[in-house]
Amino acid sequence: MTKYVDVATTRLLVDAGCRDLGESRPQQLWDKAAELSALETSWHLIGHMQRNKLRRTLPLVHLLHSGDSLRLLQEANAEAGRAGIVRVPVLLEVNVSGDATKHGFGLEEVPRLADQLATLSYLDVRGLMCMAGLEGNKDDARRDFAKLRLLSERLRGEWAGRFALNELSMGMSGDFEAAIAEGSTMVRIGSALFEGLDETAG
Ligand SMILES: *Cc1c(COP(=O)(O)O)cnc(C)c1O
Repeated sequence: MTKYVDVATTRLLVDAGCRDLGESRPQQLWDKAAELSALETSWHLIGHMQRNKLRRTLPLVHLLHSGDSLRLLQEANAEAGRAGIVRVPVLLEVNVSGDATKHGFGLEEVPRLADQLATLSYLDVRGLMCMAGLEGNKDDARRDFAKLRLLSERLRGEWAGRFALNELSMGMSGDFEAAIAEGSTMVRIGSALFEGLDETAG
């Protein structure tokens, strides 16, 4: 995740072999994608998306991790249709911990979305994404990740033939081991990449 660093540092990461880059703010993703357009990169949007930013963002993203409401997904579908983007890859963000400050669908809500998602023909629903609760320790994080894994397993049965749901985006610098133990297919590492950077640069 390059959300903490400038374009020059992002470029260093790409040179070091990181091709999948994530930003939480659309504006920063636009700016970096433009500045680094000559490099081979895949951009991921991991933060909450305002609907009025979809138009500029969708053509740039390899994967939208933060599909956090039906309304947003419907607008993304409409925008993809207008722009002629055949199938925007998205994940459904699930608020597994129930933190009031977090975006995302409730755990019980997701299984009921199948029929509505099936109408969104310009979206490719690839899987689920979550963050562990803010308050918890590592065991709590692992329990949160297990909830997402169990939901994903359940939906792969119920939604077989409709959506593949191969991806589980979970795990950050502080809890990626637990996420991997619970089957994460994509960890989103930010701060751990840049630890010690100030000393080496300074
Ligand atoms: C910032 C962020 C990350 C990376 O967090 P670190 O703790 O710095 O690794 C991962 N996912 C989301 C959704 C984020 O906003």
